[in-house]
Amino acid sequence: MLVANAACPTQAYIDGRWCDAADERRFDVTNPSTGAVIASVADCGVAETRAAIAAAKAAQPGWAALPAGQRSTILRRWRDLMVERADELALILTRENGKPLSEARGEILYGASYLEWFAEEAKRVYGEVVPSSSASNRILVIKQAVGVCAAITPWNFPNAMLMRKAAAALAAGCTMVAKPAAETPLSALIAAKLGEEAGVPAGVFNIVTGTRAAEIGGELTAHPDVRKITFTGSTAVGRKLLEQSAATVKKASMELGGNAPFIVFDDADLDAAIDGAVASKFRNAGQTCVCANRMFVQAGIMPEFARRLAARVAALKVGDGEMTGCEVGPLINEAGLAKTERLVAAARADGAKVLTGGAKHVAGELFYQPTVIEGVRQEMDIAQEEIFGPVAPLIGFDTEAEVIAMANDTIYGLAAYLFTRDIGRAWRVGEALEYGMVGINEGILSSAAAPFGGVKQSGFGREGSRHGLEDYLEIKYMLMGGLSA
Ligand code: ADP
Repeated sequence: MLVANAACPTQAYIDGRWCDAADERRFDVTNPSTGAVIASVADCGVAETRAAIAAAKAAQPGWAALPAGQRSTILRRWRDLMVERADELALILTRENGKPLSEARGEILYGASYLEWFAEEAKRVYGEVVPSSSASNRILVIKQAVGVCAAITPWNFPNAMLMRKAAAALAAGCTMVAKPAAETPLSALIAAKLGEEAGVPAGVFNIVTGTRAAEIGGELTAHPDVRKITFTGSTAVGRKLLEQSAATVKKASMELGGNAPFIVFDDADLDAAIDGAVASKFRNAGQTCVCANRMFVQAGIMPEFARRLAARVAALKVGDGEMTGCEVGPLINEAGLAKTERLVAAARADGAKVLTGGAKHVAGELFYQPTVIEGVRQEMDIAQEEIFGPVAPLIGFDTEAEVIAMANDTIYGLAAYLFTRDIGRAWRVGEALEYGMVGINEGILSSAAAPFGGVKQSGFGREGSRHGLEDYLEIKYMLMGGLSA
């Protein structure tokens, strides 16, 4: 079924205009649940990217000069429209991404919550007055918008990953050129349309859709007028974007891959740990950068945890995201499915045991059965790579020190989870984990009020919270002299 209709644009959005690629190329968007083509979208390249950057540059001074309260009102209106039309946006999101409708709706509200949050924060960009070492002057510190920002976003949260960048950037007075993933451009376009309705001025927020990611990304990173690149995606692409940005010394925020440990101690509330494990692992069919990737379970509770988790996972309802009661949708594409199959096969060949799942699901070409595997060891590929599929690998451990060492033994450092009733242990382990975010007795930790981001090769920069605004602000120091009488 087509989603492209009057309500959902399929053209790029540049300088407040909906436009086709100059060479009129288009690409198909397919529904991963059915394989059906749902829309044909403008396939832009370097020329359109350049036009968008020029528009964002021209619009930036005027946007930054608006009183913060006025920028705030526009963002707040944008948020209201998104919430009012959440059902419609959720359907578009489910059709292009595959996730269950209930999750898609949750994502729209989550994306809207960043607009609400940063509409409020926009009014709180405070400076400082610092006493100087000389009696005749004072040191003033003000904060100003970085300028034109480029955003490159992934397909796994096509609304929320874009909104948390756009909301913070626009609140700070920056303008933006965004390139959504080619798998899921529609959620970005419909969001831009609501922004237009809310009163975001022409050129302030631009969307360049296209399949030629390296060309568009090349232009965004090479162009001297782009002051900052903000990226959510794989560590491999993040490294490339950083290298490309070096020539023009851009600011950068990188939200990259993860390899989240999910640690369950003997003293944990098992019901809560199992709920947390299912929520953390199987949301979006395991395709989130904060998904539990390695489940470390202490020896004393391993048999019971494994048995109960496998029973819960075996009962998950798999199917088209539009199906009533659906809990797990398809993987996004063939490559995602092939990776999941490869990692499970290798773990099996290496002695791990599948407790439930372990094969493709009959629901369709891109579906994989929700899976639990026990007897996994830290050195296996499945424990080293980001799975991005509905597979929970269980790894046993005995001591706190041992599990901390294993949890930190990765290049990644995004999210970690631990379950214990011992408050001392919660602090010790929480502080020892080399991660940007730690969920304690919780399997889901995303919130517009919290600073989201990683350490090590999971990237840098924070999105959400008051810190999220700082990533789009420059500090300027002005010396105010001549104060002596
Ligand atoms: P994922 O595994 O989530 O697809 P990617 O890092 O490949 O992770 O994709 C995230 C975003 O980065 C998408 O918008 C994709 O189109 C874009 N992308 C992929 N390769 C490049 C590149 N070489 N330059 C710029 N953007 C890229």
